[in-house]
Amino acid sequence: MEDDALWLDGNALGGLLYEVFGTEMTAVQRSCQSCGTRSAVGAHRAYQGAGAVLRCPVCGDVAVRIGVLPDRHVVQLAGAWTLDVPRP
Ligand SMILES: [Zn+2]
Repeated sequence: MEDDALWLDGNALGGLLYEVFGTEMTAVQRSCQSCGTRSAVGAHRAYQGAGAVLRCPVCGDVAVRIGVLPDRHVVQLAGAWTLDVPRP
């Protein structure tokens, strides 16, 4: 994965994450599998190319990869994600 390109903050992927998870994700907390830092998804670094990648704001390890295909999204999560989702 080439990460030398410009990155945005995780809020830039808010729309895509909403589409994938069906809920607002930027405030969701994630604990990094590498450095242990707990931070909001919106505070991660976002990289966009053919798909999208979020990386830990501290160590840069991958938090999620989202492949955007014509008929689906392919999502690979890493680390511990805590989703607090309101019940309908
Ligand atoms: Zn980390």
